Amino acid sequence: MRRSRKVKILATIGPASSSEEMLKKLFEAGADVFRINMSHTDHELMRTLVGRIRTVEEAVGRPIGILADLQGPKLRVGKFANGKEVLTVGQTFTLDDNPEPGTSTRVYLPHPEILSSVEAGHRLLIDDGKLELRAVRSGDGKSIVCTVIAGTTISDKKGVSLPDTDLPVGALTEKDRKDLDAVLSTGVDWVALSFVQRPEDLAEARKIARGRALIMAKIEKPQAVARLAEIIELSDALMVARGDLGVEMPLEAVPGIQKQITRAARRAGKPVVVATQMLESMITAPVPTRAEVSDVSIAVFEGADAVMLSAESAAGAYPVEAVAMMDRIATKVETDPTYAGIINAQRSEPEATGADAISLAAREIAETLKLSAIITYTASGTTGLRAARERPQVPIIALSPILNTARRLSLLWGTHCVVSPDARDLDDMVNRACRIAFDEGFGKPGDRVIITAGVPLRTPGSTNMLRIAYVGSDVQTSRSR
Ligand code: ATP
Ligand code: MG
Ligand code: MG
Repeated sequence: MRRSRKVKILATIGPASSSEEMLKKLFEAGADVFRINMSHTDHELMRTLVGRIRTVEEAVGRPIGILADLQGPKLRVGKFANGKEVLTVGQTFTLDDNPEPGTSTRVYLPHPEILSSVEAGHRLLIDDGKLELRAVRSGDGKSIVCTVIAGTTISDKKGVSLPDTDLPVGALTEKDRKDLDAVLSTGVDWVALSFVQRPEDLAEARKIARGRALIMAKIEKPQAVARLAEIIELSDALMVARGDLGVEMPLEAVPGIQKQITRAARRAGKPVVVATQMLESMITAPVPTRAEVSDVSIAVFEGADAVMLSAESAAGAYPVEAVAMMDRIATKVETDPTYAGIINAQRSEPEATGADAISLAAREIAETLKLSAIITYTASGTTGLRAARERPQVPIIALSPILNTARRLSLLWGTHCVVSPDARDLDDMVNRACRIAFDEGFGKPGDRVIITAGVPLRTPGSTNMLRIAYVGSDVQTSRSR
């Protein structure tokens, strides 16, 4: 089973998509990586979901990545007696320390420190800014009395942003530490950190992870944008988390920042995900708006590694349709005559390493000779990352003996990952690569591929080999095996 597009699709799972059957349908429609949002998922459910994804992975025979997204210091209101309330502009609405279910005039805010930090006149933006409140007087430690400025609906556990209030918050909350332990011991591939502000914020998570999962920094604070280069240096991947970014910064600043982050991540060779509201109207409708289709296309044209669905796949009425729509948009954009030129325009110079020099040469040879694939042997995944950084027009097949590497690289642009044991010698390496290209649908007998590797295998930083090979006629027999 192979995908015919380069950009990957990351689908958040939730009540609308948690069954094994739905997970399989989402994978078949195009989801490459599943996101479990720890803001909405307890440990028991998280373990169940990871188990179901692994069952689907086994059934479809393809490595599937799992991203656990830690809530971070995000403030959320409590629940409502009726699940939600419709408010009127101009009315008074209070956030308080009373854990009882909310009504049309008040709701619980389970963050005592906030109840005393908010000052009169500060804005409180609820649900990615859909509802705006303004504090009438400073919080007294027990409640904040507000006026409704804009928007109407408030519902269970919606996020609260405080763009005007100084909050003394660290990177990982107590809940995050517990969640991190749980997701690492369950064996997720990626962990996303919310509200990263400083490079140091990544250090603690990395120390706890001890290489068991890779770390993705969610860029959603102006402070993180200001120190982007240092944060990229210390992260394994980035997410342009437009929900909170669009609340923390003027909305009109988000498109330019999205481009800056995508380009900087591409330059560094770190995967980058564009997230939030990509097909938002598909939460309730089977067809997206023109503007949403265009939004997805912009991320694809920019060469982002992945585009993400949030509530569309987690809690919407059309999860499979949303994934299928993203797949269609991506496939169409990538075959547009303007696509290759736009992607090439943002390509970065190679760094002075064997891996980069060989990745560049492999791309040029593959494109010049119209080869059917670039096949790269990668144990840790690093050579795969460098190959994808070149953004070649031909598909990349990453061969790794390590299942975890294949799962992690499922997020990576243009890369089809296959688990394959280490080759015995050079002949075995070439034969194996050609056979896999054939078996996985990337080449027929007579087609040529290019193979890159570091010999001896498993020596980090040793990428030193480049070989053109024919997909032989002997492989014909392997399909029937
Ligand atoms: P984040 O800041 O981490 O993106 P979020 O609240 O915006 O948090 P998303 O995962 O982006 O969460 O999903 C958007 C919306 O979809 C949520 O506000 C929620 O209403 C709904 N949702 C997502 N996942 C779940 C879930 N597992 N259970 C219930 N609702 C969910
Ligand atoms: Mg969100
Ligand atoms: Mg967020």
